[in-house]
Amino acid sequence: MSARILSGQPAAERIRADVGRQVEELTQLGREATLAIVTANDDESSSWYVRSLVSSAAKLGVNAAVHDLGPCAGEVTIRATLERLSTDHAVHGIILQTPLPGGIDLGDVARAISPEKDVDGANPVSLGLLAAGLQAFAPATAEAVMTLLDEYQIDVEGREAVIVGRSAVVGKPLFHLLLNKNATITVCHSRSSNLQDVTRRADVVVAAVGKARLLTSEHVAPGAVVIDVGTNADPKEGLVGDVDANDVGPLAAALSPVPGGVGAVTTSLLLLHTTSAALRAQGQNFTPAGIGS
Ligand code: NAP
Repeated sequence: MSARILSGQPAAERIRADVGRQVEELTQLGREATLAIVTANDDESSSWYVRSLVSSAAKLGVNAAVHDLGPCAGEVTIRATLERLSTDHAVHGIILQTPLPGGIDLGDVARAISPEKDVDGANPVSLGLLAAGLQAFAPATAEAVMTLLDEYQIDVEGREAVIVGRSAVVGKPLFHLLLNKNATITVCHSRSSNLQDVTRRADVVVAAVGKARLLTSEHVAPGAVVIDVGTNADPKEGLVGDVDANDVGPLAAALSPVPGGVGAVTTSLLLLHTTSAALRAQGQNFTPAGIGS
């Protein structure tokens, strides 16, 4: 494979050091940062993710409290929990973990998360603020893509970027983050015709689909930068991305691995958003974690 491998580890370590510094600052103020994680499912991979987030938080001195409402929780209960946490001064960040019980829309219930505590950018108001170029928390995964590009000094200004996937947690916020950096952007989705003709035009391709190895060498121009957001369980290989790394690697200039790329940065960013929100609640300088990051 000839592509440069864009590991998320160096950025993740740097962000963890930033979290440590912010925790120290809070300690000097006699405060601590608390992240509330609201879950309403019995999904195994979600439970695994929550456990790993709680453990990462503990290592860095951030409190993480899980509010498990169970897989049968109704919309009213979830909304009431988010509203209560939003007004609780001891809570600085709130995450509503997916999947949600059938029929409940994430964006709809997430409107109950106060934008100041919306550390994973789930409230549509946060997306609106990002779109308007105003201070807001971007969803950590979308921001992790930008962090990875920054880490390897990949400048997107004036370059053509194609995002495959238009979800509210990855594709749409990423569109605004890339636009803030003056990229020229196309967003593809399941109804896009001739996907490979569009992605082959791109200097930077971001895959955020959720389909194992969907993008092959047919989709990528020689010398392109390829960021793989996808995380798909493969019975033989474990976790695999949306990009066929063996096929794309020889012709791409750079490729983010799965695991160890975007995902490695995401958790650290969530904790940084939480400590930033806690400092802001203390009236300390707040470094916007979405806009301009
Ligand atoms: P999602 O909500 O299911 O959205 C998937 C998007 O892909 C949709 O916009 C869909 O189009 C589009 N799509 C589906 N099939 C397609 C096809 N054949 N061609 C082109 N577009 C297609 O997924 P998500 O939450 O954004 O997550 C995407 C991936 O990222 C998943 O693998 C997820 O596990 C991963 N992820 C990783 C992290 C991390 O930290 N590493 C965090 C979050 C998500 P329509 O809109 O038309 O349906």
